[in-house]
This record gives sequence, structure tokens and C-alpha cells, in this order.
Amino acid sequence: MNSSIQFLGGLENVTGSMHVVEANGQKILLDCGLYQGRRNESYEVNRHFPFEAESLDAMVLSHAHIDHSGNIPNLIRSGFHQPIYATEATKDLCTHMLLDSAHIQEEDIRFVNKIHRRKGFPPRHPLYTTKDAQHSLKRFFERSYEKPFLVVEGATCVLYDAGHVLGSAIAVLEIAAKPKSIRIAYAVDLGRASLPILRDPVIPERLDYLIIESTYGGRLHDDIQKAKVELKTVVEKTIQKKGKLIVPTFALERTQEVVYYLNELIREKSLPPIPIYVDSPLASNLTEVFRNHPECWDDKTRNMLKEGKDPFGAEGIEYIRDVEESKKLNERSGPMVILSASGMCESGRILHHLKNSVEDPKNTILVVGFMAKETLGRRIVEREKSVKIFGEPHLLRAEVSILNAFSGHADQKELLNFITQCGKTLKQIFIVHGERSQGETLQEALREQGIPHSLIPERGQKVRL
Ligand SMILES: [Zn+2]
Ligand SMILES: [Zn+2]
Repeated sequence: MNSSIQFLGGLENVTGSMHVVEANGQKILLDCGLYQGRRNESYEVNRHFPFEAESLDAMVLSHAHIDHSGNIPNLIRSGFHQPIYATEATKDLCTHMLLDSAHIQEEDIRFVNKIHRRKGFPPRHPLYTTKDAQHSLKRFFERSYEKPFLVVEGATCVLYDAGHVLGSAIAVLEIAAKPKSIRIAYAVDLGRASLPILRDPVIPERLDYLIIESTYGGRLHDDIQKAKVELKTVVEKTIQKKGKLIVPTFALERTQEVVYYLNELIREKSLPPIPIYVDSPLASNLTEVFRNHPECWDDKTRNMLKEGKDPFGAEGIEYIRDVEESKKLNERSGPMVILSASGMCESGRILHHLKNSVEDPKNTILVVGFMAKETLGRRIVEREKSVKIFGEPHLLRAEVSILNAFSGHADQKELLNFITQCGKTLKQIFIVHGERSQGETLQEALREQGIPHSLIPERGQKVRL
């Protein structure tokens, strides 16, 4: 019988990851991510799947990021009724991430429908609702790292730690075939060695095929240790100026990493205790999930627990869920650190904090993540003289610091290392999840290392195994 991989989403861009592996006639969906682009286009792309949802036999989810998990509620709504396999931590993170995403979908449609009503257009329905998200969580089945399980008749799967975010996995599928079985690894997204909290990515063996991300296929990151050193410098400056350090951050992983480093710096007495506020209900909930899954932590973080220390709760750290408490921060004077979402400053509580602090040179805005074009975050990175917040112009007089060392994705060197360590049995490497130029640079680097058999698949392309 034939087996194949069809590449359906998250190819030459980093959102909407989705691929189908056909194993002797049974279909396994790898990820079901939300495509994020312009509003109307995204709505159409996400709404219609390029397959019949009920024709799938199983799904394997690599990790909880919305660009990998965010279209699951719509998949269930479209008729998928088979199991979704993921690690327990991924499942727990998705509980919060998918409900939050559903809430955003509902709010967004409310806004769109206001405009539609005015223009006399028919109303739109949200991509999915909170109810759909709740319903989809019932389809999740937890699987432990490194324990093989039957994913469909005639194919097993093993999840290995991907070292990207809590619970993230490299899925290795083994499909029964003659004369020998076919082994495919799905390493999208792939993390980095030495990230705080997480273990290093595991190198899977005896592979025939590898599907790998290329977000930074053509770039090199700063050493992650540099992040902690630079963070210390920025906080010290904030203390001197008695200002506020505003950190726009993603609720999953980056928040916990920044808190972890701040915590470490305070414990080591490299920094004096300073009030730190994590002002995001989602980030607060996700941090609870981090606490509940020490089985995903690296040795260093686990040792902290043994010594009775809380990696996410040093003296002075406060998690804020209540809106009124959040507003009160505006009246308080510095020095203090405020971490808030959204990461690109497009929505959420971070906007209130920015509005309240961008005009004062005492304050600093610390950028710790990628800021896409056309976002407020990018305008801040580019240090525009005046930025619009809630539609009003504000002079950008606060200092802007950019910390490039934080990244949960392997860079070119780390990708090459991973691929070469996967061994010489690889028949083909599929490069996905990255802009074309990043994928091509990685491909070129692979050729230089004597690895010629890589392919950047087109959307919809099906490759026989
Ligand atoms: Zn990811
Ligand atoms: Zn991704």
C-alpha cells in the first residue's frame, strides 16, 4: 500500500501549520494551526480545510502555539471526531490557549459585524466559539514522551522533547511497510539547547524522512546566556531612573522565561528585589500549567523545586488577573517591571501600560520577541517619533531596548547540527515553516555540508514515500 505526505499549511510562512501523512490508506493530520494574515484572507483560509475533516483517522499535535493548534476547534466543528494525540502539558496549555483564541474570534467578529451592519453586508459567524473550543478539548488524548503508541492501524508514533515550549514534541511516525517500515520525524517547531526551564531537543534516530522548520534557516541568534546579562543591565537602569520597565511579551514561554531569569538574578543577588507584575490573565494561567508539569523541566529547574524554591515566584513577583488591579498599576510609581500581552502590542492590557508610559523618558520598553510589520510593536522597535495607541498619537520618549537573544527556534547552526546528527539514513528532508529566503539559505547550507536531498514543498504538494 502507498504512503505519502501532503503539505497543506505553514510552508513559506510561519503560521497555519498543517500536513497530512497517509499511512497505508489511513490519514494522520500533523498540526492544525491558525493562519494569521490580513483579516479577510485569514478568515477564508482558516474556514475551509483542503480535505474532508471526517475523512481523517487521527491527529498528532506538536505543541500548543496557536499557529499549530489554533484551528482545532474549527476542525472538530467541521466533522473531525477522531483522537488528537499530544503531551499532557500541551493539552493543559491548549485548554487556556484555545479558549482565549475563541474569545478573540468572537470579539473580532463582533467588531466586523458592526461595520457590516453599517454597510448593509450580511453578518459573519466566528471561525469558532468558546463552546467549540470547550468541545474540542474532549478530543485530546495525552501521551508521554518516548513511549510508542498506536496512532492508526499499522502506524505507531513516539513523541520526543522538542525543547521549544513546554510540552513541545518532535513526532516520529513509523509506518509498517515492506521490506522495512518507514520512519518520518516532524520537527516543527524545533527548539534550542540551553533554553531556560526546558530540556534540550532530543535527536531522533534511524529516520527516512524529516520535516523541519526554517524560521531562522538563514540567521544566527545571540547566545541565550546573553539574554540574562542584558536583562540585568536594563533592569538596573530602570531602578536608577526610578522608571517603569514595560515588557510586551507572549503569554506562552517568553513570559515564563523572562520571569525565570529575573527570579534567578534576584536570588543570586545580582539584582535587588524589585516589584515585578505579570499583568495578563492568560500568562498567569499558563504559568500555573508550567508549575504543574515539572516532568517537562530541565535538571536545573527541577533542582530548584527540590531545594524548595519556586522558579516562577521570587520575592516581589505578582500575577495579576483582575482588571481593576491592572489599572491601579498606572497610578503607582517606579521602579517596577510590568510584563503584559499581547506580544506585538496589538491588543490587550499592554496597550494601557504603553499609553501610560511611552511619553516619559524615565521609562523603558523592552522588546523580547519578534514584532511583525505593521504592528505597534514594530513601530516601537523602529523608534518612530510618535505612535498611535487607541487611535491617539503619543510621543515615543521612553527608551527602547531590544533583546535579540531570546528565541525558542533553532537558528541555522542549530538546525544544521540537528539534521546532521539525525544521521545518514535520511532519504529526504522537507523544509517548511519559514519565509522562502530562509528555507533556501538553509537548503544551500545543507548542500555545502554534502546533504543534497532537501525539498521546499509547495502548498498542496503530495510526496510519495
Ligand atoms: Zn511554536
Ligand atoms: Zn510555529
